[in-house]
Amino acid sequence: DGGSAAGADDVTLDPWGSASVDDYRKLFEQFGIEAFDDVLPQVPNPHYLMRRGVVFGHRDYGPIADAMANDDPFAVLSGWMPTGDPHIGHKLMIEEIVYHQQQGGDAYALVADLEANSARGLSWAEIDRHTEEYLLSLLALGFDPEEGEIYRQSGNERLQNLAFELGAEANFSEMQALYGFDGETNISHMQSVVTQMADILYPQLDEPKPTVIPVGPDQDPHMRFARDLADRTRYFGVTEAYASFEADPAERVLIRAAYDAIDDDDIRCEDAADYLREHHADEAGTSVLPKLDNAGKEPIRPRVRFLDRNATDEAFEALIDAIDGEKRVFEGHVDTFDLDADAAEELAREVELGHGGYGFIAPSSIYNRFMTGLTGGKMSSSIPASHISLLDDPEDGYDKVKSATTGGRTSAKEQRELGGKADECPVYELYTYLLAGEDDEFATEVYEECVGGERLCGGCKEQAAELMAEFLEDHQEKR
Ligand code: SF4
Repeated sequence: DGGSAAGADDVTLDPWGSASVDDYRKLFEQFGIEAFDDVLPQVPNPHYLMRRGVVFGHRDYGPIADAMANDDPFAVLSGWMPTGDPHIGHKLMIEEIVYHQQQGGDAYALVADLEANSARGLSWAEIDRHTEEYLLSLLALGFDPEEGEIYRQSGNERLQNLAFELGAEANFSEMQALYGFDGETNISHMQSVVTQMADILYPQLDEPKPTVIPVGPDQDPHMRFARDLADRTRYFGVTEAYASFEADPAERVLIRAAYDAIDDDDIRCEDAADYLREHHADEAGTSVLPKLDNAGKEPIRPRVRFLDRNATDEAFEALIDAIDGEKRVFEGHVDTFDLDADAAEELAREVELGHGGYGFIAPSSIYNRFMTGLTGGKMSSSIPASHISLLDDPEDGYDKVKSATTGGRTSAKEQRELGGKADECPVYELYTYLLAGEDDEFATEVYEECVGGERLCGGCKEQAAELMAEFLEDHQEKR
């Protein structure tokens, strides 16, 4: 559906802005975030937030699902800026860390204190106080500190060194394009971005492994940047190729089409050019045709190509030696004819790791829907009545739910006739995101009774308010 969070029509993703997303479908189209439903069947034991569509999107979650299914190594990392008390929105993210930890992942929880200081200007004393509050809730919600790792950005030297190295791969114009930075942006804020890039790749410092980062959609620019940087630090790129010249992905698709259509072992570049001129003149026109014409009688043969990106001479030589079967060495790349793409990826990573590289795997992410504020509109820490802090007195939590906006009709009579609008109701959201816990049947029952007109808002809110007070009491005891 169109999502329940209210907000502006335009999708702007700003990690430090006031985030709201009106139409989650736009995120799929505009930014290439994929629908979580597509990967859900692959997840061995999905969390209730996944089952209920609160986790609505992902980038590259497939490798995580595979790792869970096959008991292979994987990691999960997320963190917070300690700028206020932890609230029920943070609980979702914590639960996702804990879930992946319980499914066998290496779990990391970080405190983005450098970011809180540089982007929000909090004092170190305030940061310390909020950090303690976060960590108590993290532990109370089930994070296992013996198995996992908790760190603060400012106290982690390996992280800082990695951030420094990644900074050498990043430049100002990219940050300008991704985050809207300008000449007034302070250097520490930029430094906090590369630190975050390092956070995202930190679980792979000892060994590359699929890593998932649970985030809100407003954090997606960080994910795109981190995936890009992970790729840029690699020693070798691996691509498919058909002849000795370089072709971009769109050009390769055209060459492949010609190769498949002609279906002749002796196909030459000039034959492919003739075919494309006849059948794909518009697309092939100025880009791939001159390359094929130039290559003339060179045979077209599918191959896997290793591109030298950041490799030392020694590593490049070692890669050449390690390739079995037929190969051709060029300036800056090696073509191999007996390896498939997966085996080539594996070999490239192995040689890189043997020669001092990180061999990073592009990190994956999952995206949570924003929670609607209890007063309608967006949930905001600056409007206390709109959200519930994990430190709220249970009675205050009870009262906030009791005073929440609902998706109910103007009268009980109308509600019985038309049913409530559960999809637009912050109270229903509380049930699905938190109060129903693992109990899918209960969440469905609330929904159906509401839209069917059997459930009236007064009783529904009373039940939700009691559950909320119980949750807060229990959570605070655990803290
Ligand atoms: Fe929301 Fe409950 Fe009212 Fe339905 S009955 S609109 S779920 S408060």
